[in-house]
Amino acid sequence: MLFIGSILLLLIINILLYVFYKKNRDSKLQLRNNELTYTEHKPESVLVSRKINHNATKVISKLIKKGYLAYAVGGCVRDILLNLSPKDFDIVTDATPEQILALFKNSRLIGRRFKLIHVVFGREVIEVATFRACSERKSKKSKSGRLLLDNTYGTIEDDAIRRDFTVNAIYYDHKHNKLLDFSNGIEDLNNNILRIIGDAEARYKEDPVRMIRAVRFSCMLNFELEHSTETAILPLSHLLEDVPPGRRYNEVVKLMYTGCLTDIFKQLIKFDLFRHLFPVPSKFLEKDHKYKDFVYQATKNTDARITKGKTISPSFMLAVLLWKPVKYLTSRYIADGMDRIPARQQAIKQVISEQIVCTSIPKYFVSAIREIWELQYKLENRKPKQIYFVLSHPRFRAAFDFLGVRDSAGLLENSTYNWWDKIQYLGKPKQESMIKALIKNKHPKKKIKPKKKAQ
Ligand code: ATP
Ligand code: MG
Repeated sequence: MLFIGSILLLLIINILLYVFYKKNRDSKLQLRNNELTYTEHKPESVLVSRKINHNATKVISKLIKKGYLAYAVGGCVRDILLNLSPKDFDIVTDATPEQILALFKNSRLIGRRFKLIHVVFGREVIEVATFRACSERKSKKSKSGRLLLDNTYGTIEDDAIRRDFTVNAIYYDHKHNKLLDFSNGIEDLNNNILRIIGDAEARYKEDPVRMIRAVRFSCMLNFELEHSTETAILPLSHLLEDVPPGRRYNEVVKLMYTGCLTDIFKQLIKFDLFRHLFPVPSKFLEKDHKYKDFVYQATKNTDARITKGKTISPSFMLAVLLWKPVKYLTSRYIADGMDRIPARQQAIKQVISEQIVCTSIPKYFVSAIREIWELQYKLENRKPKQIYFVLSHPRFRAAFDFLGVRDSAGLLENSTYNWWDKIQYLGKPKQESMIKALIKNKHPKKKIKPKKKAQ
């Protein structure tokens, strides 16, 4: 009896301690709100609660159950409020990366500049970050003011000021089913405005990638850039050169998956950002209209594929952008006396190594780009003995689409596009007869001249 009584007493003490701890934590949050207040949005939160996905809810619930704060934030909340489907779910918490790792078996630590945790559910990844603080003292900066290391943790209010745009800083509080909006993001969302949080110049200097993000979100959401968010870009565009090539590459790839790459390219050129991502192609784009048509034909194709839910590969668009510089250099080397094949190899090597200084390109994609280019010559020349090799090449589809873009942009003198378009869908016997016809056309039988009669 006494034993049961003491267990009950212990249980009650534990419950009281837990309630006291939670109250204290919540009241701390209230206190902090005196410094940066948020507006609660109840009706909108119902929409978010219905659309937040299962795995994200699982992660949030587990963090809350273990006594941490946890919110969904960023693109997922923004997109749900705009009736779009979120690309991914970002969670933010007061648990440290180590505490998150300990909580989820299916998690891994990523990032150095920003430590993040990926919680993996099959093919889906939920990104969990710890509230960031705005600590001038502890964050490491470059000469131009770019943040190099930034792993100091803070409160939700600190985290809210550190986010890039107001519409990306709306927090969904699953526990109380409400939205916390520290910077009038919902108002901007309703007015279709993309506004950077804080002083535009300082925020771009801190992280120049935000300039590319500004262009990406304004095109993707069809939002107008708020005045200073827009005007600060052009004079600071050169700061992109301070960003490591790996980060620049990641941002470029994100652009390709938006479905509005055509608009984005035009805006990047307008804000002089394009030149700092693709310096060599940029020079050719300025003066060569045919090449410009070719590039925009490719961006339109990419956008159409994304809209139809088809897959794309970053290698395709990179191959398009770097094609003209390769062609130009090849012809220069040939003019200098080099043979055609080594000239081409040398040009490819040079163009790729010049590009990876700006946007690194993973090795796998470099090989894909090379293969797309190599196949162009085979697709144009149609050597009968190579037809089956070309058709069964793993890169045939991409190379064929590339040929199609060249064709639509009027860059092919003798188009073989329709021929390849036809042969790839035929059965073996019909393919054989097309190849035979090709041989006949290439080596027409010499006409036997009638012998002159001896007179
Ligand atoms: P999407 O995932 O649809 O491309 P997103 O807004 O979720 O858009 P992410 O790159 O997933 O973009 O970033 C998640 C959130 O992290 C952003 O919404 C923003 O709040 C914050 N964020 C990302 N990059 C930066 C940055 N460079 N500076 C400040 N905040 C950032
Ligand atoms: Mg996201």
